[in-house]
Amino acid sequence: MNRNPNAIDTQRLTLLLTELRLPAIRAIWPDFAARADKEGWPAARFLAALAEHEIAERDRRRIERHLEEARLPPGKTIDSFDFDAVPMISKAQVTAICAGDGWIEKGANLIFFGPPGGGKTHIAAAIGLALVENGWRVLFCRTSDLVQKLQAARRDLALEAAIAKLDKYHLLILDDLAYVAKDQAETSVLFELISARYERRSTLITANQPFGEWNKVFPDPAMTLAAVDRLVHHASIFEMNVESFRRRAAIQRQVKAGRPPTYATAKTSRSIDSRDNQPQDQALPDQL
Ligand code: ADP
Ligand code: MG
Repeated sequence: MNRNPNAIDTQRLTLLLTELRLPAIRAIWPDFAARADKEGWPAARFLAALAEHEIAERDRRRIERHLEEARLPPGKTIDSFDFDAVPMISKAQVTAICAGDGWIEKGANLIFFGPPGGGKTHIAAAIGLALVENGWRVLFCRTSDLVQKLQAARRDLALEAAIAKLDKYHLLILDDLAYVAKDQAETSVLFELISARYERRSTLITANQPFGEWNKVFPDPAMTLAAVDRLVHHASIFEMNVESFRRRAAIQRQVKAGRPPTYATAKTSRSIDSRDNQPQDQALPDQL
């Protein structure tokens, strides 16, 4: 009995594709092959379609991995950010930042100042998310958590290695710089980090206090000056001097409901926020 010369051993093909580390092709080839046979694709078109698919899947999986490692707070996107509430920042400006081109290769920095509730963490996380989607690697940290980790690394004589590990992130987001305790050992690790990234890797900082008060963040004025100097050398600085977003939203809802805005106390805001099914402690801004 003559064997069909076109017959292939599909089990062996699956093994070969596994060996070649082509999981997307392994999963999709039977469908593509059926279509190609039905529509009479030339062999080269079939091969090209498979290759394109493998590459697209790789990109998707890489971004998925980078999104996971970025540890961004969920749900904070550019689309859900109300730019009307922060007139000093334009959407066009932020959209340009999100592309990453031009500043991130140079290791330039972004600094967001403003009182609590003004949207600093939101915009920082949203920029981080957009950058990851555009192929950059990002890590979001609460500054105090990162400082603690670096401090522990220093005790193990591994500070340099810990800082070097952060090099793989094109952007390091240090959220809430001002919450770092004023302690010589703690805060100099932050200085080491800033120095190590200077002109090589970008850092985004959010802070409640202006530079003038950063003496409370670093152990001595000379170090504060040196840190600020490195940070601002190549930086875009945004002042978000707006009222707490949630406080304003609560007041607006009360006005709409026909009650005077003075009713927007912590108590009434809590009842308003609970209508949105948000957890109450999260729904309330830090300083209502
Ligand atoms: P900050 O970090 O400045 O203290 P957040 O970013 O945590 O402020 O903002 C407090 C809450 O209000 C968050 O839930 C955030 O998503 C929301 N918020 C703040 N500003 C805006 C804005 N302009 N548009 C949409 N949501 C905002
Ligand atoms: Mg914040």
